[in-house]
Amino acid sequence: MPDIAPSLSRPLVLVVEDEAALATMLRYNLEKQGFRVEEAADGHEALLRVAEMQPELVLLDWMLPVMSGIEVCRQLRRRSTTRDLPVIMVTARTEDQDAVRGLNTGADDYITKPFSIDALLARMRALLRRANAVPAKGRLVFHDLSMDLATHRVQRNGRLIHLGPTEFRLLEFFLQHPERVFSREELLDAVWGRDIHVEPRTVDVHIRRLRKAVNGDGEADLVRTVRAAGYALDAEGPQPAAGPTRPAAALSQA
Ligand code: CA
Repeated sequence: MPDIAPSLSRPLVLVVEDEAALATMLRYNLEKQGFRVEEAADGHEALLRVAEMQPELVLLDWMLPVMSGIEVCRQLRRRSTTRDLPVIMVTARTEDQDAVRGLNTGADDYITKPFSIDALLARMRALLRRANAVPAKGRLVFHDLSMDLATHRVQRNGRLIHLGPTEFRLLEFFLQHPERVFSREELLDAVWGRDIHVEPRTVDVHIRRLRKAVNGDGEADLVRTVRAAGYALDAEGPQPAAGPTRPAAALSQA
């Protein structure tokens, strides 16, 4: 299995392409290279799928029904959750001169049809490496919880939290994909690595430790158990719209 991204063993790629044959070819080749693939056939569906699946990278066709690739890209860049999502624009040769416009609207790179799968993979890997390198120096924040990736310091409400190495990686992964539900198998793949055989029940043990470490007295439980589905980093109960006017601390009092 080729090395793709260090933090996620099988990155999820959203292929936005209205030519069914091309979409099928891309799925086949990308899956063979260890990617997970989701598809969208028009611009509107693309935005829905991004919100729903939270892919690590989007392969975005330029000419799409309903909404053009450019407009999709523009909207992705406008939303805080997808501002930094790696996007590769796919153009036909005749649209090539317009590709610069695509880059101006926020695409990270573009590739011209017809392209070789090797050229595409090289660009995808370069982008994923870059995307993964950025948060490694920064801070991940959710609710009143923060993780400094340089110092490995985890804090909640100003209180320092001590985590074992597995709990740290688990929390890092959750923080990179807040509110998304992961099965035990997905967590094993992402946190332990897919080549290591670990019983799915092991995940429960580490989730329990993580929960104990992260949730202080009277604080909201940030680790949600989804029956028969898995786990998510989430604040239980009704959520007010996220915004700076509402202090996060108020949630734990509710
Ligand atoms: Ca097209």
